[in-house]
Amino acid sequence: MRFNKPAYPTVYFSEEIWIKCPKCSKPALVKTELPKYTIPFPRGHESVCNCNHCGFQETNEKNWSGYVQGFINRACGNCGSAISHSTEPTKEPYDTSEITCDICKATREYKIQWYRYRNDKATDPYFGFDLWLQTSIKDNVLWLYNVDHLDYLMEYVNAKLREDDGRHKYSMITNLPQWVKFSKNRDVIIKKLNTLKKDFEKK
Ligand SMILES: [Zn+2]
Ligand SMILES: [Zn+2]
Repeated sequence: MRFNKPAYPTVYFSEEIWIKCPKCSKPALVKTELPKYTIPFPRGHESVCNCNHCGFQETNEKNWSGYVQGFINRACGNCGSAISHSTEPTKEPYDTSEITCDICKATREYKIQWYRYRNDKATDPYFGFDLWLQTSIKDNVLWLYNVDHLDYLMEYVNAKLREDDGRHKYSMITNLPQWVKFSKNRDVIIKKLNTLKKDFEKK
């Protein structure tokens, strides 16, 4: 099986994040609606956390002084091929980036969508709640924002052929720790991810 999904950055999955409800410890959802025009970041987006189990709700998100990451996900303006480009995480977002299409080589300027970027803690970047989807493997913790994120990782780990050619330097896959990429760890990671998903779907 070949892994040839677009090179998404982790932030691509951050519009819906499952966290552990601070009141009842069940899964609650942090939903973020990104603005159409994001400059200046981070104004204009709206995040809300809702727990369907106990009714907990939070709308006052924490101020953000950390990194943001940009993502361009669209069709090439010249030939229509899919373009997915992640920027380097930065504290100073900018408006557009010049991207050269891999297929037709046309270079155009595209608008960047910015997201809060966090990779140091298994918490959501808006409220700082603990992520619900996390599992320890040996001494490491693997965390995911939502089930699409989990499925994406699972497909990558499962694949024997991985297209990871280094062009997408800031994608989620490129930034995975090495132990996730070792084929000797494949079975244990898949098992853990399956358990995590089943457990989540029961809640
Ligand atoms: Zn709750
Ligand atoms: Zn093109």
